[in-house]
Amino acid sequence: MNTSPRFRPSPWTRPGRSARPSHAAPPRPSVESVKSAVDWLALYTQELGPLKGHGPWRAAVCPFHSDGHPSLRVNVEHGGHCCMACEARGDGVRFLMERDGLTFNEALDRLKEYSA
Ligand SMILES: [Zn+2]
Repeated sequence: MNTSPRFRPSPWTRPGRSARPSHAAPPRPSVESVKSAVDWLALYTQELGPLKGHGPWRAAVCPFHSDGHPSLRVNVEHGGHCCMACEARGDGVRFLMERDGLTFNEALDRLKEYSA
């Protein structure tokens, strides 16, 4: 009969010490995973109207200042904007937050509407 004490539970693995609280919300998808799925060309075209130019950087009329010609550059491959006139800049989340006054999570939900 084997009654070796080796199999006693370790004092370092007491149950409940490292468990997550049961009331914690399920984790949201990471920001990067949301952004990587977005069709940025569709988003910026929908939000800004037809874009000028070709390639990853396109031009559009800037919504962040009184713009008479397309001063805003948007990256349709990875998301991102940069204005040559008013220096507004940021990623797609910041674009929606600042233009539409959204919270971070509201902007993320809007991005998901453009997920491929
Ligand atoms: Zn601008």
